[in-house]
Amino acid sequence: MERLQKVIANSGLTSRRKAEELILQGKVTVNGKTITELGTKVNPSDQIEVDGEIIKKEDHVYFLLNKPREVLSTTKDDKGRKTVVDLIDTDKKIFPVGRLDYDTTGAIILTNDGEFSNILTKPNNEIQKVYIAKLDSILKKEDLIKLKKGIRLDSKLIKPDKVKVKKTNSKNNTCIVQIIIHEGLNHEVKRLFNKLGYNVLKLKRESISIFNIINIPSGKYRPLTIKEVKIIYSLKK
Ligand code: URA
Repeated sequence: MERLQKVIANSGLTSRRKAEELILQGKVTVNGKTITELGTKVNPSDQIEVDGEIIKKEDHVYFLLNKPREVLSTTKDDKGRKTVVDLIDTDKKIFPVGRLDYDTTGAIILTNDGEFSNILTKPNNEIQKVYIAKLDSILKKEDLIKLKKGIRLDSKLIKPDKVKVKKTNSKNNTCIVQIIIHEGLNHEVKRLFNKLGYNVLKLKRESISIFNIINIPSGKYRPLTIKEVKIIYSLKK
């Protein structure tokens, strides 16, 4: 059983808020009966009509994309720049789950399943994301320790699940760091290093939970399997 407004929103017809308005306005029927109560639960077999039009439950689709640089993590852009949605061949109304910056590359999931997206983005589900960052100088031991102990961002103590220096290049005075986090704040990785006085020259997200882009070329994608989708649903707390 699912809430009526959620089923309407999931059909792709409108947002959940608009669906609630339509219900309150008496424009929604379930099996021919007008429903004006917002909490009403419906079965998959119930026939729902909005303004006399039958709602078809939209099939859910899920993609894992290896985002290139200079692509926006939005559904559209006023300035005509390329978005992650432009890279996926589908007729479904998909959206990116979370954000990667314009210049960040790597793993991003696109779907039309709002609940799936919520599971992956809600901080209390502690979904791990693995990032590889190139810094503009070699990470000092004391800063690595500070990072491991946690850094305050947006008045929240961010304690990475793991931080490891993978490579140092003393000639160029740069280094490559692997950092695993689970919150998903805006520009989180860049801000963590900025707080310690480093700039992130390059940033790649290698994986989100069970999904990694190691075998996916830049700009390419693959659909998720049903088994993978079920694993993510099982992580919901
Ligand atoms: N952290 C960042 O700073 N940028 C991203 O794109 C993702 C995480």
